[in-house]
Amino acid sequence: MENFESLGLCKALNTSLDKIGFKKPTPIQAQAIPLILDGKDLLGSASTGTGKTGAFAIPVIDKIITSDEGCALIVTPTRELAKQVINVVRDLLGPSNSVKACCLIGGEAIGKQLNQLKRKPRIIIGTPGRINDHLEKKSLSLKKATYLVLDETDRMLDMGFGIQIDQILKFMPQERQTLMFSATFPKNIITLSKKYLKNPERITIDTENTLLKNIKHEVINVDNTNKYKTLIDQLEKRDGAVLVFAKTKHSTEKIAKNLKRDGIKADALNGDLRQSKRDKIMRNFRENKIRVLIATDIASRGLDVPHLKHVINYDLPQVAEDYIHRIGRTARAGQSGEAICFVSPNEGHLWLSIDMLMNPDAKHHYAPRKKSSDKPYRGRRKSSGGSSNGKSFGDKPKRKSSGGSSNGKSFGDKPKRKSSGGSSNGKSFGDKPKRKSSGGSSKKTIRSSDAKPKKRFYAAKKKTKK
Ligand code: AMP
Repeated sequence: MENFESLGLCKALNTSLDKIGFKKPTPIQAQAIPLILDGKDLLGSASTGTGKTGAFAIPVIDKIITSDEGCALIVTPTRELAKQVINVVRDLLGPSNSVKACCLIGGEAIGKQLNQLKRKPRIIIGTPGRINDHLEKKSLSLKKATYLVLDETDRMLDMGFGIQIDQILKFMPQERQTLMFSATFPKNIITLSKKYLKNPERITIDTENTLLKNIKHEVINVDNTNKYKTLIDQLEKRDGAVLVFAKTKHSTEKIAKNLKRDGIKADALNGDLRQSKRDKIMRNFRENKIRVLIATDIASRGLDVPHLKHVINYDLPQVAEDYIHRIGRTARAGQSGEAICFVSPNEGHLWLSIDMLMNPDAKHHYAPRKKSSDKPYRGRRKSSGGSSNGKSFGDKPKRKSSGGSSNGKSFGDKPKRKSSGGSSNGKSFGDKPKRKSSGGSSKKTIRSSDAKPKKRFYAAKKKTKK
């Protein structure tokens, strides 16, 4: 498809698309927009930098603008993603549009959200916990919500939001158009799609191949005690913005602190930070005020920072698919990027899972280094003359895994047990996460800032002989 004009969108949208510089639909947009305009339910597989937000936002906005009736609800797993989506929606609506959008996420003042809701927004974007809070308080009505978008549905289920999605859907009309996007289609997604979608059209964009094509991959075998030194080396030899993934909230803070000590503009992003702080850090990163962002997997989905050049996996993800999401933060919208993996001897099994996912047809080997001749890094002196603390940095060396399958331990963020039932508890608008019920009828709410991904392990396949 050569341009957006052939899609027959309304004039206001064509003007906005022109203004934001979207000339030609991306492949997912070219496939999804006509189907959505046609009123079809959709099950779409696309993630990371493919233009997925526009694929659902453009036709939904077109439908909302060109009718006096109907509202849209867009549900995302994380607050950051919700904010990103509302920015795209506002850009597409344009500044003088009478259609209003609002963002309902945890960690933000409820009063501001109530004021926004009083203005009768017709596009509501949010995370499940806060949407449910408003539904229970009756400050939000979804009776006219004839469009529902579930973005990053696999992530939402991994984070334990399944029950909350069920709860939200009880407040929505039966007659609606539902669009479900998910990076992968495991069994629980298929079950959910059967429950909520009517004869959906299915679209799959080959994200993995795109990533393989546009991203240069590099694997560095490193001992845990040398990871920080290796990070410094990598930062010195690269230009541009870098996103570093570390396994725990604590380690993000520790790495950021050490980088700052060593004169590098860096900051940490994790779910323990207040929302206002998270927003500020993301803003600084987007505006190039910090060069290196060290994050937990909170940043692995959906975040769009177009100038991001490098993704460094300081610690490998627990779940191989998360690797795809992590590296998809670079090489956005057809650009190129670089992904670097630090693989320590005890992460061999994790690397094997990733390698098997990325190169399913290749032979897979992982030979952890037996011995490192590198000395532990002892810190770097600041160029300003400030002394370093002389302590070595790095995660404590861990015992080697026995190889093959995962040892079943948490990779940092502990997953929570899923409740076997119940709906949200109707309690106050507090930001504190509430623990999930382990079953029964009690009703609890999980917050997007604190919900943790479920662990999934990939059984190591038989070793292939060289
Ligand atoms: P997304 O996958 O929705 O996060 O989009 C990834 C990036 O692609 C964002 O920076 C968008 O601004 C950009 N993008 C989306 N659609 C288009 C388009 N049709 N033309 C140019 N850039 C686009």
